[in-house]
Amino acid sequence: MSRRARRSHELFAESRQYMPGGVSSPVRAMGQIGREPFVVARGEGAELVDVDGNRYVDWVMSWGALLAGHAHPDIVAAVTARAASGTSYGAPTRGELELARLVVDSVPSVEMVRFVSSGTEAAMSALRLARAVTGKTRVLKFAGAYHGHADPFLVAAGSGLATHGIPASPGVPEGAVADTVVVAWNDRTAVDEALASGDFAAIFCEPYPANMGFVPPSEGFLAYLRERADEVGALLVFDEVITGFRVAPGGAQEREGVTPDLTVLGKVIGGGLPLAAFGGPRRAMEALAPSGDVYQAGTLSGNPLATAAGRIAVELARDSAARAHLERISSSLADGLRALGEEVGVPLTVTAAPGLVCPFFTAGPVHDFADVSATSAEAYAVFARSLLDQGIFVPPSRFEAWFPSLAHEQSHVERTLAAARTALQAVHDNVYSGASR
Ligand SMILES: *Cc1c(COP(=O)(O)O)cnc(C)c1O
Repeated sequence: MSRRARRSHELFAESRQYMPGGVSSPVRAMGQIGREPFVVARGEGAELVDVDGNRYVDWVMSWGALLAGHAHPDIVAAVTARAASGTSYGAPTRGELELARLVVDSVPSVEMVRFVSSGTEAAMSALRLARAVTGKTRVLKFAGAYHGHADPFLVAAGSGLATHGIPASPGVPEGAVADTVVVAWNDRTAVDEALASGDFAAIFCEPYPANMGFVPPSEGFLAYLRERADEVGALLVFDEVITGFRVAPGGAQEREGVTPDLTVLGKVIGGGLPLAAFGGPRRAMEALAPSGDVYQAGTLSGNPLATAAGRIAVELARDSAARAHLERISSSLADGLRALGEEVGVPLTVTAAPGLVCPFFTAGPVHDFADVSATSAEAYAVFARSLLDQGIFVPPSRFEAWFPSLAHEQSHVERTLAAARTALQAVHDNVYSGASR
């Protein structure tokens, strides 16, 4: 496949002189699959066009932020109309009220909501609130779960049974993660041992972890966390930045029937603009300033362009025909990948939920971060590079999920599966045949 890359290459080379790694967020650099990124010119529905004129079926969808696809006409119209009336006021608007109402109506655990500008900010603020309302400090999190890049969450799991976190990045002081305890996902014994070691303000989790690929909770695990949080007096916090308005209008908590104390939202809620939120019961949320004394603030919080876009995105997420379409596209992609894995003869385990699909190069099953880490990085890199060369944009990392959207049609799935057959054959020949390494 010869795709042009001259303009992308030149722009990216210059970008590297002005921005670290040439990007504004690390995974975009495609380092994990060992190639250069393409530079985007525009998005149209389920497709991207790069600056060299190459067209891609997009399964990255701004890392899950775009449930409605690129440049959805209703979102473009709403944002354009708002922009003509000013882009930020630092004063209340009807738009934020309308979105707040929709969020409260959609997400089972949320009675009140605070808007912020990024998932990082929402998770960090939810932790502060949990600490304030419980009067406790420590937080339990799961290995492989991502809650944004605030210091207390940038923790690597300790070795063996050790539950003490160590900083996952230079610049994060040991003190900032000293109160974060990391355990393996789906491991009830590890949760019990950690909780027995002292008081906790919160158990923080992605109810459907989708930042280590997508690793669903085992049967009853979320209910178990609910029970244990109540027993020890910790808040259960669901980080639904990916799953909110995606796997169901009310997120994973609606699908699984488990109600957290606090919920963190982002990505879909902003319709592709910078918006995130956290919410919960009135009595907890009213601890926030100015009703209470837990400080939290933001110049651009509840931004009128973002709330206008978010309102359309959330309304689309609640539409039952749209939901049925998302489920069909997601299972069609997942089933197709599974069948191709068998046909070509490579070990492929595919996890899926509405709006989430994730191929792992392993015979499976995949229960936790250790299982994901044991999958073949080389196989995924060969697979993703081949797909990109054939005009299919998938996450350039085996630790990210693929994101079907409302804009994907069955024809996009078919183009993807046709390319995947070639890509899996390349994986088979280069990684699993043993002959041509
Ligand atoms: C993306 C993500 C975040 C961070 O959101 P940003 O808007 O990138 O800061 C937090 N939690 C989860 C589960 C996410 O997927």
